Amino acid sequence: MGELQDRVALVSGGSRGIGFAVAEELAAAGARVAVTARAENRAVQAAEALGGAGGRGYGCDVTDGEACTALVERVDDDLGPVDILVNNAGITRDNILVRLKDEDWDAVLDTNLRGAFHMMRAVARGMMKRRSGRIVNIASVVGLTGNRGQANYAASKAGLVGLTKSVAQELASRDVLVNAVAPGFVETEMTASLSEDARNALFERIPLGRFGQPSDVAGAVRFLVGPAASYITGQVLVVDGGMVM
Ligand code: NAP
Repeated sequence: MGELQDRVALVSGGSRGIGFAVAEELAAAGARVAVTARAENRAVQAAEALGGAGGRGYGCDVTDGEACTALVERVDDDLGPVDILVNNAGITRDNILVRLKDEDWDAVLDTNLRGAFHMMRAVARGMMKRRSGRIVNIASVVGLTGNRGQANYAASKAGLVGLTKSVAQELASRDVLVNAVAPGFVETEMTASLSEDARNALFERIPLGRFGQPSDVAGAVRFLVGPAASYITGQVLVVDGGMVM
């Protein structure tokens, strides 16, 4: 029996990359997992590919607050009340500051920061009422350090850290634990277009001598939503092979 037996987990952006690895890991630990993405068919396919306790796929754009509320109600009907929320949906629209367009700023902040706010607000009441719940927000090391060419993305992830700590303080008295995981460079579709030169330069900065894999992040999320992390809230767990110390 896995440590998340009978738990219901909701993973935004779970159709591929880090989100899919998280969904797989939580399902392997016994949770029934609701996997979401804008592309409903891909979310459904991903859910069908889960092992363990399995789950269901849903289309939901996290930038739409009403859609997030409706999603949480659907998951409640289909699988049961959400015990675990992983805010993983995220995008990049990289450019240097002077070339950054308003729409690049808005798209990244709306998805990465406002989306997490929508989802947390949608699950918070239920978790508070049940006096139990875990929320993990997938931030990034660039939210801690900044990064040239990623002002919008770094701002969204730094904002997510502030959001995490604030909500952790609000929900702590109800035993709802809220933490963030900050990955370094992880090989997914998001990072696949990086030039060879940029990859090599990054590689030099990773003490563990390898790029991160989605499963590296998933293991940290499994820890934070499991029984071993019952006294941890408001923290940012960096998963980056030692790149930022
Ligand atoms: P990815 O492969 O591009 O996957 C992103 C996922 O988010 C997809 O399932 C995508 O599905 C979904 N998504 C995007 N916009 C959405 C929206 N508005 N509403 C709902 N779902 C949406 O990215 P990844 O590399 O796995 O990244 C996952 C998370 O980790 C992101 O928050 C990212 O910022 C963070 N992160 C990644 C790295 C890295 O090196 N890869 C490092 C640090 C942090 P649809 O397109 O169908 O919606």
